[in-house]
Amino acid sequence: MAEPLLALQGVTSGYGQIQVLWGMDLVVQPGEVVALVGSNGAGKSTLLRTISGQLGPRSGSIRFDGAEIGGARPDVVLAAGIAHVPEGRRLFRGLTVRDNLLLGAYLRTDKKAVADDLEWVLELFPILRERQRQDATTLSGGEQQMCAVGRGIMSRPRLLMIDELSLGLSPRMVEHLGDALTALNKVGQTILLVEQDVMTAFELSHRAYIIENGRVTRSGASTELAQDPAISEAYLSI
Ligand code: ATP
Repeated sequence: MAEPLLALQGVTSGYGQIQVLWGMDLVVQPGEVVALVGSNGAGKSTLLRTISGQLGPRSGSIRFDGAEIGGARPDVVLAAGIAHVPEGRRLFRGLTVRDNLLLGAYLRTDKKAVADDLEWVLELFPILRERQRQDATTLSGGEQQMCAVGRGIMSRPRLLMIDELSLGLSPRMVEHLGDALTALNKVGQTILLVEQDVMTAFELSHRAYIIENGRVTRSGASTELAQDPAISEAYLSI
């Protein structure tokens, strides 16, 4: 098998006195969509923050494309090719949709390719083209999520990490965003997705990891996990 794009081994992480991740092992292959599923507080967001450099791992290794990135600063991780779309979207107030999108490309110097990627994002999310001169924080929740995902794409990442894609959005909007992720993956985008809605997570991903109390308790093909009654029983009601 090809070398994984991302490989975590024995990663522990947390906040001050609180340890949240307890020896996480995880692999993402190039071209995959991988979902992280688990109840509130399981440590999914903490895992993404540890990968993107907002938190340093306390031990273990995080390898990206064969190089150790564990403990690297967020701008270094972004430059290496990992974009993190955070929970809550965090768009910049006072900046237009277009400027928020362009901020995703702030490390890039290839102006022509940035303009092409902006065009691709506006094609992927036509509503953002209509709203591109509007303050991004005045968009609806679903439109803001599109803008946040678009900003992630604008760094042209080799790995796009999205925290809580569907949180607070209508089923129609979730479907629309899901279609966009599938279209992105079809052109080769590797995606690591945190998703609290387990069926959406399984539908959108090739493989998934179930996380409980900061540990991986199950992993496998999403189609197989989706058919496991123990998993639907445990997670359908959360
Ligand atoms: P959710 O779906 O609720 O966001 P999650 O699986 O993403 O859940 P995390 O946000 O990673 O979980 O939280 C894991 C644990 O870390 C929780 O117990 C949470 O209270 C704690 N935690 C998260 N952020 C901080 C912080 N900044 N300081 C201290 N503890 C934190």
